[in-house]
Amino acid sequence: MKVLIAERGGYCYGVQRALDIAHEAAEQGSGPIHTLGPIIHNPGVVEKLARAGVSPVDSPDEVEEGTVILRTHGVAPAVIEAVEARGVKVVDATCPYVKVAQEKASSLARAGYLPVILGEHDHPEVTALAAHAGERAMVIESVRELEEAVAGGKIKGKVGVVVQTTQAGDNLAALAAVLAPACRELLVYNTMCNATQKCQEEALSLARRADVVIVIGGRNSANTTRLAQLCREVQPRTYHIEDAEEIQQEWFDGTETVAVTAGASTPPEQIESAAHHLRAIGDVLS
Ligand code: SF4
Repeated sequence: MKVLIAERGGYCYGVQRALDIAHEAAEQGSGPIHTLGPIIHNPGVVEKLARAGVSPVDSPDEVEEGTVILRTHGVAPAVIEAVEARGVKVVDATCPYVKVAQEKASSLARAGYLPVILGEHDHPEVTALAAHAGERAMVIESVRELEEAVAGGKIKGKVGVVVQTTQAGDNLAALAAVLAPACRELLVYNTMCNATQKCQEEALSLARRADVVIVIGGRNSANTTRLAQLCREVQPRTYHIEDAEEIQQEWFDGTETVAVTAGASTPPEQIESAAHHLRAIGDVLS
């Protein structure tokens, strides 16, 4: 059984940067170090970091002293103010690409556009983007939702779009096609992250050549879940796992080629472990 490993799977620039910042804070830190929410959507990595002295909290109210690290997704301006009001040190690990999206979102509001955030409701990055875009911001997740908003007269006039960094390009194209005839002026900031696009493109290319696809990453990771969805559209025998131990031999009956990719919050050791597991299964089946 041939095992194809994606070169662009696993930690992206922003995640690696945030983890480096967290480890550096742990080494230098005096007093407790917290992240606001898990630093990335990968339970194994969060546990490891907690052992190194960096633990997540749900709210600024839980922090009495020490350091608070803002994670890659970014936070609303009000959250930064709430953390600063606690009198603790704030370390901003927001991904620079997310920062750009936040700046574009607030610039839309300042310029009088109706800000439309294309992204998942309740995703922390999207919630923060909407907060940066001000009170009029609307979050739209699907074409159907957008069509309803247009039909209800909620979207008109000057409209500006900002995109959740991990969205897929075809989703943006479909929404822009609905928006364009509905408004007087349309400004679209494509704030999708290049890392996500490249990872998705490579994964789809591998999925077309494979009998089975393994996608590794936290089940709470939007990025990994979308990667698995996309691969499944090309290869229905796609499995989303968090850990190599979940891999089952019966998934590979008659398999000649298996492709392995991973979300942006998946550490290299998890990818290596899965590859090792798959090679062992290949040896058994051959
Ligand atoms: S996927 Fe892109 S935007 Fe998100 S953290 Fe990684 S580099 Fe930043």
